[in-house]
Amino acid sequence: MQYDDADICQRDPLIERVLIGSDEIQRRVQQLGTEISRDYAGSTPVLVNILKGAFVFLADLTRGMSAPHEIDFMAISSYHGGTQSTGVVKIEKDLKTDITGRDVIIVEDIVDTGLTLSHLLDLLQTRGPRSLRVCTLLDKSSRRQKEVPIHYRGFEIPDEFVIGYGLDYDEKYRNLPFIGVLKP
Ligand code: 5GP
Repeated sequence: MQYDDADICQRDPLIERVLIGSDEIQRRVQQLGTEISRDYAGSTPVLVNILKGAFVFLADLTRGMSAPHEIDFMAISSYHGGTQSTGVVKIEKDLKTDITGRDVIIVEDIVDTGLTLSHLLDLLQTRGPRSLRVCTLLDKSSRRQKEVPIHYRGFEIPDEFVIGYGLDYDEKYRNLPFIGVLKP
């Protein structure tokens, strides 16, 4: 049985509202797929997916791309100072692909302070890619502490904690087809 976004919201007392509906997400992700395919015509970029939050985004993005590309996965954890990300990252799972001389696109779920991404960019840059760009579904730019170059951005969002479409709260809600806001 298929439920729509509003039904799911109503059934879960912890979800306050839908921020970005599933149809809107699908449309935007297809646009990003088209844009990336056009920009990388003639190349075979490696899409580096940062686990776990970006796995749903990647699954739709890769199917929205007509140009040949490869995918690989990385898992990182940031050390937290209190509730804030310090951005110091530890590699939990590294890439299998040698990205030296390759066109690389980091596929992220959300960029918040930018600290994690900044460290990741520095790290991948040391491996000598031909090019390195960032594609993020969500951007909370009002929270930025470290400027990071974002080449492909799905949606700019306000400073609220969001869940769904891969993003979790306590490892749950990743399966929601929309981006929602939890009740405070
Ligand atoms: P940054 O170093 O940019 O502050 O941290 C980015 C990471 O924090 C994201 O990859 C994500 O794991 C987590 N994060 C930041 N904002 C949110 C949010 O609103 N919801 C969820 N579920 N995770 C978030």
